[in-house]
Amino acid sequence: MKVPFVDLSRQHAEIRSELDAAVETVVSGSQFILGPAVERFEASFARYLGVPNCIGVNNGTSALHLALLACGIGPEDEVITTPLSWISTTWAISYAGAKPVFVDVDPHTMALDPACVEAAITPNTKAILPVHLYGQSADLPALSELAERHGLWLIEDAAQAHGAVCDGRRIGAWGDLACFSFYPGKNLGTWGEGGAVVTGDPRMAERIRCLRDHAQRTRHEHVAVGYNYRLEGLQGAVLDTKLPKLDAWNQQRRDAAMQYLELLGPRADLLLPSAGDPLSHVWHLFVVQVASAARDAVRRQLDAAGVASAIHYPTLIPFQPVYQPLGYQAGDFPVAESVADRCLSLPMFPGITSAEVDFVAAALQTALETVEEAEPILPLRASSNVRSPLRRAS
Ligand SMILES: *Cc1c(COP(=O)(O)O)cnc(C)c1O
Repeated sequence: MKVPFVDLSRQHAEIRSELDAAVETVVSGSQFILGPAVERFEASFARYLGVPNCIGVNNGTSALHLALLACGIGPEDEVITTPLSWISTTWAISYAGAKPVFVDVDPHTMALDPACVEAAITPNTKAILPVHLYGQSADLPALSELAERHGLWLIEDAAQAHGAVCDGRRIGAWGDLACFSFYPGKNLGTWGEGGAVVTGDPRMAERIRCLRDHAQRTRHEHVAVGYNYRLEGLQGAVLDTKLPKLDAWNQQRRDAAMQYLELLGPRADLLLPSAGDPLSHVWHLFVVQVASAARDAVRRQLDAAGVASAIHYPTLIPFQPVYQPLGYQAGDFPVAESVADRCLSLPMFPGITSAEVDFVAAALQTALETVEEAEPILPLRASSNVRSPLRRAS
């Protein structure tokens, strides 16, 4: 058996004729940029999330950029964010000319540790930018409370968590703004590039709508430096057709995750993701941790057995060459660094069969038993807890 890391053809096969018809409508109407299919999707995604305004854009990176601009974030401003993410989260801060301030993550959610966030707030801090990493909700109640208490914007990077729910409210409905990516492999993905910003504030929404289309207030009247960040009609049509399937597809991911957890746990040489409230996790990725010295050998064995795997993410953003001038050092992010060293993503996608999950779990167990460097690993404590005696002394 060969198990791919992601297989999009399975979800597409389910609704292929509907997708083809939706695409055909756009082609026959020649409405390729924005247009009725995009408007329909914006309305249905807003309704799905329970947020009044959704603005479709050309990808998730642009969504983050526009969200920061809409908050008026610029030079001299600081935005507190996570070192453990896809680089786009930080690009947006740099595009806006602001300074990214990185703090450690919580070992259970893998997202911003609220205590670390609070310790990093300065008079220049303007926003908190958490990522719902791997599909799991960040601690939104604590982060919202912090943002409110300190008068900061809360901008959610929800690019990996379409459909997740935190305390009865969808991810995306918590922040002042939230940003989604519809890159093909995301939980809701299109047939190319796509993204969206959602917000409860109609004035913010209007600003973002204007900025994404060359900052035109009316045709040929440009009221700011604008961008060509428009969502294509074909992508809107694909997204609107797929959205009604999102909850079912997320449930298939959840079922596969529960099967992995049951088959793999507990063992001393493997750390499993924490499940928490089932609805709070939409399992964009299923990420385990193995001893860092064993990881390469385990991956080679999986590969030889026909099982694809990946690393999300091998290098923390503050340690990327581009951000080295900020001066962060090894040891600044004990939890995130350890995750980067030990994380291993297993195949996860809607339509993965239980036989495939069985096969992957067996291959991983065999690998761990034969790879010499596979040794017991311990769960980490939050670095805010570890460091608290120091902070009290200062
Ligand atoms: C995918 C992703 C993005 C960027 O989305 P694009 O559509 O590829 O620009 C941003 N943040 C996170 C966490 C992502 O996973």
